[in-house]
Amino acid sequence: MLNIFFPKLCRGCHKELGASELEICAVCRHELPLACFHASGSDEMLQLFYGRVPVVNATSLLYFKKNGLTQKFVHALKYKKGKKIGLIFGAWLGEELKGIEAYKEIDMVLPVPLHKKKLRERGFNQVEGFGKEIAKALEIPYVDDVLVKVTPTKSQVFKERISRIFSQEEVFTVQNAHKIAGKHLLIVDDIITSGATLESCSLKLLKAAAVRLSFATMAITK
Ligand SMILES: [Zn+2]
Repeated sequence: MLNIFFPKLCRGCHKELGASELEICAVCRHELPLACFHASGSDEMLQLFYGRVPVVNATSLLYFKKNGLTQKFVHALKYKKGKKIGLIFGAWLGEELKGIEAYKEIDMVLPVPLHKKKLRERGFNQVEGFGKEIAKALEIPYVDDVLVKVTPTKSQVFKERISRIFSQEEVFTVQNAHKIAGKHLLIVDDIITSGATLESCSLKLLKAAAVRLSFATMAITK
């Protein structure tokens, strides 16, 4: 009955959702621009890391363009608490990855963390649902107490500036390194643009333990 007065709307086109549709209508689902490098075998995302950090697999579910359809869903997820979108994208990508040989040897999923101040403001890490659904599909653990985002100290800011001019001052640190020793990690994030965030996380993880790294994101900027 409630739906008559408060119909659930698609987060992309704002049309009313059908009974079997959740957050994304069938039309938008069909129109979302797929990246899916795991399926095509394209090294488009891997190329971003050549010469920066060794990466085993890298894939993204969707392409992201400014003002495009993907942006509407990612914005809903980030700013309008459309938390379920993360779950949907994660389940979607997880379902695909579990059938692919290269992703079968991954041991655990690690989310790119939010700073705890940001976490307080937003109330949740927008990649959590995405990462948990991928972990569920691959039947591996989701580990969110290893990679931590911290406020850079003055000396870290200085070092980061030297290594990468005008970095966004994203500083990650690794704790509980014993949990990841010898493991193949799938690091998940929402949108990849230059790859700087994933690179920064990876360098910290590689320094802390002998790990292999793969990446999966909701979307990649085109
Ligand atoms: Zn729609």
